[in-house]
Amino acid sequence: MKKDILGVGIDDLPLEEAVAAGCALLEQPGCHYVVTPNPEFLLTAKKNDAFREVLNAADLSLPDGIGVIYAAKLLGRPLKRRAPGVDFAQGLMERLSQSEKKLFLLGAKPGVAEQAAENLCGRYPGLNICGVSDGYFKDDAPVVEKIRVTKADVVFVCLAAPKQELWMAKNGPETGAALLVGLGGCLDVFAGTVQRAPEGWQKAGMEWLYRLIKEPSRFGRMAKLPLVLVDAIAARFSGK
Ligand code: UDP
Repeated sequence: MKKDILGVGIDDLPLEEAVAAGCALLEQPGCHYVVTPNPEFLLTAKKNDAFREVLNAADLSLPDGIGVIYAAKLLGRPLKRRAPGVDFAQGLMERLSQSEKKLFLLGAKPGVAEQAAENLCGRYPGLNICGVSDGYFKDDAPVVEKIRVTKADVVFVCLAAPKQELWMAKNGPETGAALLVGLGGCLDVFAGTVQRAPEGWQKAGMEWLYRLIKEPSRFGRMAKLPLVLVDAIAARFSGK
């Protein structure tokens, strides 16, 4: 059951259970999608109804950022722990590499998805990456067709939010894939063009600070994020 965190439903699942739930969706008929909300998502969803609706229609919604965990706590609806999208993707690829299922990588700058595919095939022997496409396209139709002909089972959609979530909801069924996962900057991490914080920083809930130090240009974007905590306190006191 999802918990309402500032208008966005979030699943309270430990990572292993989230991966198992993702694999279970792959076996169900129809097209499914997974979203990975962080505080930026919550702030955008507050103003963007279409985005909020798409987030709330997701089959699985995983708390990606530590700010979501803090907001949930302040709201009095605590979530057990973070389930970062990048960890979910890794768990899923581990499982996919032991199956016949095919994975398509969509997003990031030209060349990044190719590099990510090469690295991932080395890291997960048996993983079947059936195609890649960069995230800077004008028309959806040729991209949808490119995915469809590969008969991909899973698509990692890395176009940044809210674009990737709206894209999955609109185009998912046409791709023929059973599962689409919105994963933001994950392809940059898998390609090695962006370094993830060391484990100690991750465990301390300080991944955001590491990222800010490495990419100071994100400061403007990140400066707004504490507003989520203000919203959570306001919602708690107003009884929402
Ligand atoms: N991106 C894309 N198409 C676009 C906009 C962004 O493929 O039209 C890619 C971008 O190159 C990057 C990813 O989306 O690889 C996510 O970017 P962001 O830093 O916003 O995501 P986060 O790391 O916060 O999840």
